[in-house]
Amino acid sequence: MGLIRADKKFEKFEDVTPELLKKAGVKLLLCDLDNTLRLHSEKEPTAVLAKWIRACRKAGVKIVIISNNGRKKMMQEFCEPLKVPCVWWAKKPMSTKLTEAMEEYNFKPHETVMLGDKWSTDVLAAHFAKIRAWKVEHRRNIV
Ligand SMILES: [Mg+2]
Repeated sequence: MGLIRADKKFEKFEDVTPELLKKAGVKLLLCDLDNTLRLHSEKEPTAVLAKWIRACRKAGVKIVIISNNGRKKMMQEFCEPLKVPCVWWAKKPMSTKLTEAMEEYNFKPHETVMLGDKWSTDVLAAHFAKIRAWKVEHRRNIV
């Protein structure tokens, strides 16, 4: 496995369906925020994102947002209505925060996936943490 090669590729986070997560044995989904779950310009979660998170949760998948964004207050305000834990200033590609999340919520590497848009941070951090890296395209305006 190449360190910078994603294990699976998707166009957008909505394509990562609860069915697919279940099939792949994913119980903990670590998600990047900027350009993965939202556009930089989005200040609040979209209805599409809220619905996707609810559906994943219903399928028994725990979601934790792990971002390199250092704006703590913005991160908390964005994630609070979604009721998902968030980690800011994660310093990916360092894998520390990914490993900490697995330990905190008690999941094994084989049950965990990191979903993100950048190979230089998300994909590398996932592979340093010995978990699967799923990559989405840099998010664009999708209607
Ligand atoms: Mg990103």
